[in-house]
Amino acid sequence: MKNMLEKVVGEIYDELLKRDPDYCRCQQCRTDVLSKALNQARPKYSGGGPKGEALAGFELQQDATRAALAVLLLDAMRRVGGSPRHDMPRAEGKKLVD
Ligand SMILES: [Zn+2]
Repeated sequence: MKNMLEKVVGEIYDELLKRDPDYCRCQQCRTDVLSKALNQARPKYSGGGPKGEALAGFELQQDATRAALAVLLLDAMRRVGGSPRHDMPRAEGKKLVD
């Protein structure tokens, strides 16, 4: 289940990047955005046995679910883009956006 959610979130992230050519493509930002979005999404899709996983897997194919995940990703992209960690590990840059 975890892997399926990560796969779907990764796919949607790639789609969002295509629409935002200026957004940073580096691995650090990708990891940060995906982990933030997954942290938001996991409580809902972390399952409840095989039945829960099947239901969540089905839900992950639905447009409404993908749209909700896109919202989480866009929020994560805004936060990571506001204080990217790829070239400045300074903590004080963090407070500017959020
Ligand atoms: Zn970056």
